[in-house]
Amino acid sequence: MTSRGPLETETARLLRQRAEVGAGDLFLDGLTREEALRLATAAATAGSQSGAVAAEFPSSEAPAAGVADEALPTLPASYAALRDAAMGCTLCRLSEERTNVVFSDGAENARLMVVGEAPGANEDKTGVPFVGQAGKFLDLLLATADLSREESVYICNVLKCRPPANRNPMPDEIELCSPYLKKQIELIQPEALLAVGTFAAQLLTGRQKIALGKLRGEVHSYEGVPLVVTYHPAALLRNPKWTRPFWDDLQLLRRIMDSA
Ligand code: URA
Repeated sequence: MTSRGPLETETARLLRQRAEVGAGDLFLDGLTREEALRLATAAATAGSQSGAVAAEFPSSEAPAAGVADEALPTLPASYAALRDAAMGCTLCRLSEERTNVVFSDGAENARLMVVGEAPGANEDKTGVPFVGQAGKFLDLLLATADLSREESVYICNVLKCRPPANRNPMPDEIELCSPYLKKQIELIQPEALLAVGTFAAQLLTGRQKIALGKLRGEVHSYEGVPLVVTYHPAALLRNPKWTRPFWDDLQLLRRIMDSA
């Protein structure tokens, strides 16, 4: 590991302090990806040295998965055809206002599949999930667990099209769009799943009425695939006090993957 200079040490300390005192938004635009990754890793390493890392969590009973609706049209069996079908999808109202369908990013042979909520403005514009502030922050946090879109992470959302003004997904939109997600999971066959945010967590655990705070911190199962749920990175940017629990959830995920 390369040694850290005084500026990096200070910045790492600042990142930790911000999380501890619940400081406000963190803007990373001025940093190169390499600089940001180095600093986030330094902060995480120092955090674990403080001895505050969470203990092991128990495995949960495997709950019924929520992604399923046999009544919906049968989706193609190949990945390329599934992607094409999603690209032309007009099943719900969101297709009318979208600029791009946001299907996925990352490695198709990924060990980890991350599932978010729905595209925002940047994602709608580019067709790539998690490219805004929240996405950059998510990439940094994943990197602290040695996970990257280039090598080991496939990332997508519950909804493939942007809800207007970033409103919450509606139940019928989730019902119509989630078969794509179900098929993606089936075809990608990840070793583990990470659901970020309430909508992905409730859908994949099948526990629609349970608050995210009660679902996180344990290992669920989606169709036999270990599933960890945690806060959405956008929520972390608004509430830095959730950065620590997120990081703990990431360590839980890492342990599952390391023992696979
Ligand atoms: N938030 C999400 O849940 N998904 C994205 O792709 C971007 C922001």
